[in-house]
Amino acid sequence: MHHALRLRLDSAALQNNWRWLQRVAGVAAGAAVKADGYGLGAREVTRRLGAAGCRDFFVSTWAEAAALGPMPEAATLSVLHGVGPDDLKTALASNARPVLNTAAQVARWKAAAPGRACDVMVDTGMNRLGLRGEELHLLDGLTIDTLMSHLACADEDHAMNAVQQGRFAAVAATVSAKRYSLANSAGICLGADYAFDLVRPGLALYGGVPRGEAEGHIAQVAFPEAEVIQRRTVKASETIGYGATWTATADTEAAIVNIGYADGYLRCFAGSGSGSVAGAVLPLIGRVSMDLVALDANAAPQLAEGEWVTMDYALPAASDASGLSQYELLTGLSPRFERRWT
Ligand SMILES: *Cc1c(COP(=O)(O)O)cnc(C)c1O
Repeated sequence: MHHALRLRLDSAALQNNWRWLQRVAGVAAGAAVKADGYGLGAREVTRRLGAAGCRDFFVSTWAEAAALGPMPEAATLSVLHGVGPDDLKTALASNARPVLNTAAQVARWKAAAPGRACDVMVDTGMNRLGLRGEELHLLDGLTIDTLMSHLACADEDHAMNAVQQGRFAAVAATVSAKRYSLANSAGICLGADYAFDLVRPGLALYGGVPRGEAEGHIAQVAFPEAEVIQRRTVKASETIGYGATWTATADTEAAIVNIGYADGYLRCFAGSGSGSVAGAVLPLIGRVSMDLVALDANAAPQLAEGEWVTMDYALPAASDASGLSQYELLTGLSPRFERRWT
């Protein structure tokens, strides 16, 4: 089956990003593979990171855990949203560990699976999920594998980082667990005090640059590539696309390519997005349609029907261009892409 849109995925870049994060952290590095591996494909990501040596994987829900299928040898899976009222049956039949987030979840797990290992999330300032300081006594009697917390502001130089680190160190000194874990991708860049026993990168595995410290070390993993459907000449004073928002000031060679907002290439790229072919940059002209965009192909005189354009999607630059976060740029990539690992 021919697909006119594909996501080229670089296995070596994924694995090297993980290795860099582990080296910087100086402790075990897991991988957040929720949201289908941030849109790249959780199964494929998990297999490749497992081959690189990753042993700790994180998804959000039991449905995601089930979709992941068999885990790599010796690897374990944690379900970040824990065990809700309708999750018990699935959780008890699964090898994955719930991350218990609330007093209700702790009580539910104690009653249903006494002595069985779990993970626990404690809140150190995020106020999203996690037990509060005054609830920690509820953890007595649990067999905790990984006790974790989550940083709210790690991608910024924010006073909250040190506050959360201090609170988490205090919790780790009083609550017994096999391992302690605080840092996401950005948290890893904050230094050794944030590493504890296990770090949990997501974004940076997939080519996101969470902080300046990671610049030059994290490589792009996902490359959207779209096929040219037509090359056409737009005459001076003619317009392109919906809203007629772009007018040719001179005769312009346009490449109409097979990607649009239904693929997750959103309208906010109008005016700032671009594609590349053989080193030539092709600026996006006019609006992004559902399934099409037009690129100024003056710089690519040979580009013709059936050839491929790589959309510029280095995450920090694409985030600046679109106003979308690096996370959204990845998780928004639709199932219409044929995902091709190299
Ligand atoms: C998603 C998530 C991570 C990974 O965060 P990144 O910013 O993508 O590195 C780590 N821990 C928890 C609890 C998460 O929800």
